[in-house]
Amino acid sequence: MNFLEERIMKDGVVKPGNVLKVDSFLNHQMDIELLDEIGKEFHRRFKGADITKVLTIEASGIAIAYPVAKEFGVPLVFAKKSKSINIDGDMYVADVESFTHKNKNQVIVSKKFLNSDDRILIVDDFLANGCALQGLISIAESAGAKIEGLGIAIEKGFQIGGRVIRNLNYRLESLAIVDGMNAETGEITFRKQD
Ligand code: 5GP
Repeated sequence: MNFLEERIMKDGVVKPGNVLKVDSFLNHQMDIELLDEIGKEFHRRFKGADITKVLTIEASGIAIAYPVAKEFGVPLVFAKKSKSINIDGDMYVADVESFTHKNKNQVIVSKKFLNSDDRILIVDDFLANGCALQGLISIAESAGAKIEGLGIAIEKGFQIGGRVIRNLNYRLESLAIVDGMNAETGEITFRKQD
């Protein structure tokens, strides 16, 4: 087991509705040392790519993306959730359905911060059905930027997102892939990775 899988086993809590709570170390209280280790691990995996920006989505993606951007020495850009219907032409816009809140948000990134010279690493905390990643992919594509890869802390491998994104032929790296979890027993099983 790697460091993140070990931490999930120790402190992750399985909730009904296929939700894994990691709010004691990632999503609410944050373990900064663990986040630093996550940053180093994504850097190790993607350092061959000439990344110019890390792209994520607010709010919980920012915590993961920060140490990654720091390791690469590049800016972090996060897509903002917007209620505004008057989004002007200065923004890239995508629709994202929230897995945890079950509502739909428009997410926006200013055209000032992404362009066709950028080579992007997309990062997020969880991958479930893939809506958040597809929104971020769509924003990067609108900017004409090159997507070098996608880095996820925790993929729930029993939901469709991972398959959808890999079928699009992107390089997707997940530090932990949960293949099964049981809200009654609290049991969590991980996919074996190299
Ligand atoms: P997707 O768009 O892939 O369906 O869901 C990904 C987003 O939903 C992530 O940005 C994450 O914030 C949230 N999410 C999905 N599944 C979980 C989960 O099991 N636990 C937590 N804490 N967040 C989740």
